[in-house]
Amino acid sequence: MDSQTCLKKLEYVGVLAFATVDKNGAPQIRNISAIHYEPDRMIFFTAKGKDFCEELLTDGRVQALGYTKYKEMIRLSARAVPVAEDEQEFRIDQIFAEQPYLKNVYPDETRRLAGIVFEIRDAVIEYFNLGVNPIFRETYTVGKGISEQRGYYIDEGCISCGKCLKNCPQKCIERGTPYTINQNHCLHCGNCRAVCPVGAVKKR
Ligand code: SF4
Ligand code: SF4
Repeated sequence: MDSQTCLKKLEYVGVLAFATVDKNGAPQIRNISAIHYEPDRMIFFTAKGKDFCEELLTDGRVQALGYTKYKEMIRLSARAVPVAEDEQEFRIDQIFAEQPYLKNVYPDETRRLAGIVFEIRDAVIEYFNLGVNPIFRETYTVGKGISEQRGYYIDEGCISCGKCLKNCPQKCIERGTPYTINQNHCLHCGNCRAVCPVGAVKKR
């Protein structure tokens, strides 16, 4: 798997949930399908008068989430910015050509008055597949996206008692000194931390 395949999968999903943060710091989520995909870039249309647009212009942080029929969760975290002014018209036409239903929503020239197109170039993509055994997760970057390591790990305090492995639903902990967690198969459920008698399991 790689970032381009993830973007392709999101394109097949079609309708994505887009989350932003509003002016009160509260989460806001809505479905967006007016999206054009390129191998390393996502471009989407909204209306200038919508709260969504306001939130993108003032804060910019956005997460887009898609879920495939194969139980794959793909989450893209990024900052969205408007595409260049001289590119707006072309991108609006491009998205409307790919999504014919939009002509019913914004007929004729109303789309130019109402519309604004944003792009995401730099992103972190989390891929999480619950449809395979063991489950599989991996993180990718697009452009200048910076991924942070997240999840659980075991430090040098481990006394190799084996309790974490016994209680791990995915059996993704390797024996050793110390024991280690295979991050690609970890659910982030926290069972290992809950049972460790010496506090050797840490969360980052
Ligand atoms: S967080 Fe859950 S899945 Fe991951 S290693 Fe610990 S027990 Fe296993
Ligand atoms: S439960 Fe804690 S001490 Fe025991 S093997 Fe796991 S990490 Fe090491």
